[in-house]
Amino acid sequence: MKTIGMLGGMSWESTLGYYRLINEGVKERLGALHSAKVALVSVDFEPIEKMQHAGDWDGTAKELCAAANSVEAAGADFLLICTNTMHKIAPQIEEALGIPLLHIADATAEVLCKKGIERVGLLGTAFTMEQEFYKGRLEEKYGLEVLVPPKEDRELVHQIIYEELCLGKTKEASKKEYLRIISDFSKSGAEGVILGCTEIGMLVKQDDTNVKLFDTTLIHATRAVEEAVV
Ligand code: GLU
Repeated sequence: MKTIGMLGGMSWESTLGYYRLINEGVKERLGALHSAKVALVSVDFEPIEKMQHAGDWDGTAKELCAAANSVEAAGADFLLICTNTMHKIAPQIEEALGIPLLHIADATAEVLCKKGIERVGLLGTAFTMEQEFYKGRLEEKYGLEVLVPPKEDRELVHQIIYEELCLGKTKEASKKEYLRIISDFSKSGAEGVILGCTEIGMLVKQDDTNVKLFDTTLIHATRAVEEAVV
């Protein structure tokens, strides 16, 4: 079994979910007392979040490349960056590493393509919904048509992520707003919606809606288990 490298803490609430899903996946595949071999480095999110919102991506790259190097030094065979947003600096991290990076957008796009989905809604931080590193990758590399909510809703989705979900708060009112936006996507012809932020699965579950949801935490963790257990 390969050792799964995890760069976590962004937020630790979602890293917990990854850790559980990865271990459950290995248990399901191998049975008995098997559990995942994991090398995890979990960073302090507060300074990272400050740099994100100040646009200091070079600062985040410096911090996260060092953390990724520690994951590799701890024996990881490949790396997961356990957040969609910080894939903004995936090229710098890949450059700093001697092991492969399992990109969250690639893992997600592969699942969508396998299901024959062509038009999909995207929920995530404003960085993820608005910038090329994520939406652009899905469109250019995989030919997907990616819808994002209107500006006001993007702001709301972003605010709920940083002010609630990353702090472990799940509020009924916020869930209602997310479900409204998911339903709007469907009305615009989306065949599914990407939960493109690793905390959204804490708030919205597949049982809450008839619209097909693609939870990036679940997809990324599942892909990691496939890669680790060969
Ligand atoms: N975990 C979130 C994501 O998947 C947001 C936190 C962050 O900014 O890294 O994008």
